[in-house]
Amino acid sequence: MNSAPGSAADITADEWERAVVSIMEAEAVCLACHICPDGDALGSMLAFAQALQALGKPFTASFGDAFVVPRILRFLPALDLLTHPDDYPAEPDVMVTFDAASRDRLGSLAANVRKAREVIVLDHHSSNTRFGTTHLVDTGAAATAAVAERLIGRLGVPLTHDIALDLYVGLITDTGSFKYAATTPDVHELAGRLLATGIRPESVAREVWDRAPFGYLPVLSAALGRATLEPEVAGGLGMVWTTVTRADRAACGLPYDLLEGVIDIVRRTDEAELAVVFKEDDEGAWQVSTRSRGRVDVGLACVALGGGGHPGAAGFTLHGDVAHAVQQLRELFAQIEVATRS
Ligand code: 5GP
Ligand code: MN
Repeated sequence: MNSAPGSAADITADEWERAVVSIMEAEAVCLACHICPDGDALGSMLAFAQALQALGKPFTASFGDAFVVPRILRFLPALDLLTHPDDYPAEPDVMVTFDAASRDRLGSLAANVRKAREVIVLDHHSSNTRFGTTHLVDTGAAATAAVAERLIGRLGVPLTHDIALDLYVGLITDTGSFKYAATTPDVHELAGRLLATGIRPESVAREVWDRAPFGYLPVLSAALGRATLEPEVAGGLGMVWTTVTRADRAACGLPYDLLEGVIDIVRRTDEAELAVVFKEDDEGAWQVSTRSRGRVDVGLACVALGGGGHPGAAGFTLHGDVAHAVQQLRELFAQIEVATRS
């Protein structure tokens, strides 16, 4: 394993300057965030779309098929600024990507990235492959939203309530409500400036964390009921894992996009350094969420399995057998644990 996970490769003054000049000189700007967007991806992009609107700059903002906004994000301001990916310019002049660690994370819009003259990659993943022409990638940033806020500031656009709310949702999702290690004094300082625009944290928290249809309870019960603890994984640090199947959800009419919080309950397990949840989507593929308490880099393991993410939170898509993938994870976690100890 040869990368330096979590190293704070900050953005050079030259890169900020190039990004600002490209955006200001562009006739139109095309924005894209990663597929199945989370609060950070969509929130950052919608905040930036509003900044371009304030500048009077024409733009297109979208994400790759399937073009469905997850239910828990349907309260975000400026969703009406989104365009269907079918109507996205085929050969963008200047494109900005949000929270996408690699080009393939843009799904159907990856083809548009290939054709774009200039691609500004705005992100914070340590696994970022630097697939653009200008890289605003700060692996020390708690959220892509924090990087987006700096770019909005450099473009001279003031924070309105709606821009701030989109950024705030990105910040709280990626810090787990200010719980994760990336929650620095700067994060709280940014949150303070965002809240000062009039955001009500209790109503945002209710939307993002504290609601679900009744069907969530039996689905959660099924998933937790079959959770497996493997104390010997990663040299005795332990792994807990479970599945959420299509059949679980079908029995209660629960849509796939309400499963994001399952990993947060599974990862509470004291006896496990590592937590893994396999979520079967409507097409029958498994979307896999992995979490670590800090002694094993799950980002490296997920990259090895075709995905990516952060040292403490990462994921990949599985088209095969869960039992086989669990075995691959046991082997990868053993190697990565040894690597981090030596
Ligand atoms: P989650 O488990 O919450 O879906 O994702 C955790 C982290 O891993 C997020 O930063 C997310 O962007 C990243 N991630 C999840 N799935 C994938 C994937 O299939 N590919 C890549 N590159 N990153 C992923
Ligand atoms: Mn993010």
